[in-house]
Amino acid sequence: MSASNPLDFYSVGALLSDDERLIRDTVGRFVDREVTPIIAECFAAERFPAELVPRLAELGLFGATLDGYGCSGLGYTAYGVICEELERGDSSVRSCVSVQSSLVMGAIFACGSEEQRSRWLPALARGEKLGCFALTEAHGGSDPGRMRTRARRQGADWRLNGAKHWITNGALADVAVVWATTEDGVNAFLVEKGTAGFETRVIKNKLSLRASSTAELAFADVTVPDSARLPKANGLKAALRCLDDARFGIAWGACGAARACIDTVLRYTQSRELFGRPLSHTQLIQSRLADSVRKLSGAQLIAWRLAKLKESGVATTAQTSLAKWNNVRAALDIARDCRDMLGAAGITLDLSPMRHMLNLETVITYEGTESIHELIVGRELTGQSAF
Ligand SMILES: Cc1cc2nc3c(=O)[nH]c(=O)nc-3n(C[C@H](O)[C@H](O)[C@H](O)COP(=O)(O)OP(=O)(O)OC[C@H]3O[C@@H](n4cnc5c(N)ncnc54)[C@H](O)[C@@H]3O)c2cc1C
Repeated sequence: MSASNPLDFYSVGALLSDDERLIRDTVGRFVDREVTPIIAECFAAERFPAELVPRLAELGLFGATLDGYGCSGLGYTAYGVICEELERGDSSVRSCVSVQSSLVMGAIFACGSEEQRSRWLPALARGEKLGCFALTEAHGGSDPGRMRTRARRQGADWRLNGAKHWITNGALADVAVVWATTEDGVNAFLVEKGTAGFETRVIKNKLSLRASSTAELAFADVTVPDSARLPKANGLKAALRCLDDARFGIAWGACGAARACIDTVLRYTQSRELFGRPLSHTQLIQSRLADSVRKLSGAQLIAWRLAKLKESGVATTAQTSLAKWNNVRAALDIARDCRDMLGAAGITLDLSPMRHMLNLETVITYEGTESIHELIVGRELTGQSAF
C-alpha cells in the first residue's frame, strides 16, 4: 500500500484546526461505537434510532453553529466535519441533525422573536424537544411558491388549513415550523404537537432513508396565537435561506457516505481472490477505485472551500447549489459503483454501500433536486431564470 490516504487524497484533514480535528474524531468515534452497530437493523426495520437523540445533544451537535441559547457556537467547517462523520454512519442521522439544526433552530434563530428563541432553542439544543420543517406540499416540492397551505387572521389568532408532505421527523416533532401563505405573502408558524386539528401520518414503505421517520402533516382549522408566527419569516426567501444552510451540511455529509463506500471496497477487493490474484490487482478495479477517489477528492475540496466562504460571509446560493449537486451526484455514483465491485455480497445490509446508495436517492432529491440546483447555477451564469 502507498502512504497516501485514499479517503483524504488531498489532505483536507490537514487544513482543519486542532479543535475541528478533535470534533471530527469525537463524532467519528460516536459513529463507530453507537451508529454503525445498530444502523443496518434500523434500516431493515424502518426504525428511526430515537435513542441517539440524547447522545447527539450531549455532543453539542444540535444547532452547533448558533451562538448562545445553550448552543456550541462553532464555525461552518466544524459543522461540515460533523455532517461528514454522521453521514459516514447513515444519511438518516445526518438528516436528523440537519433538520433540527439548520432548518428548525436556524429558522427560529434567524426569524423568531426573543421569546420564541428563549423558549425553544435551549430545549431543542438539549434534544428534549424535536422539531420539523414543513415546506413541501404533495403537488410539487420544487415549486414551493405554489403552496396551498393558508393561514388566515381570526381576531388575535391565526387559522391554518392545508397539508404538507415528505416531512422529516414530522410525526415525532414537538414543534413544526410550518410555512403558509397569508394575505401578506408567505409566513412561518410554530405549531405544537397535540394542537387541535393538527394530524400526522408516517409514510411507510420507503426504499431510501429507512432509518429516518418521514410524515404527512394535515392542518384542519388549526388555531394558533399571533405569538406563534415567526415575525421575521417574511416571504419564501426566509425559508430558502434556511435551506442554504442545510444544503451546505449535505455537501459535506455526502463526502462521508462516499468515504464509507470506498473504505468498504478497498478492504474487500484486497482480500477477494479471483483468477489467482486479489481483485485489487486488476486494472479495471484499480481504474474504478481511482475514479471514485477522483470524485471524492473534488467533492471534499469544494466542501472545504464552501465552508471558508461561509465563514467569511460571502458564500452565494449558487455556490451552495453547485456544491450540493456535485457532491451528492459524486457520492451516489461512487456508492453505485462500490456496490457493484462487491458482487453479490454488495446487495445485503451486511456491507454499507447499497444502504448508502439507496439513502443518497433521497439526498439527491430533497433540499432541491439535482435539476433544480443545475437551474440555480444556470441562472447565475446567464442571468435568466429557466425554472
Ligand atoms: C425522505 C424525504 C425527506 C424529506 N424531508 C423534507 C422536510 O423535512 N421538509 C420539507 O419541506 N420537505 C422534505 N422533503 C421533500 C423534498 O424537499 C422534495 O421531495 C423535493 O423538493 C422535490 O419535490 P417533489 O418530490 O415534489 O418533486 P417535483 O418537484 O414534483 O419534481 C419532480 C421532477 O421534476 C424535476 N423538475 C422540477 N422542476 C423542473 C423544471 N423547472 N425543469 C426541469 N425539471 C424539473 C425535478 O428535478 C424532479 O426530477 C423530503 C423528501 C424526502 C424524499
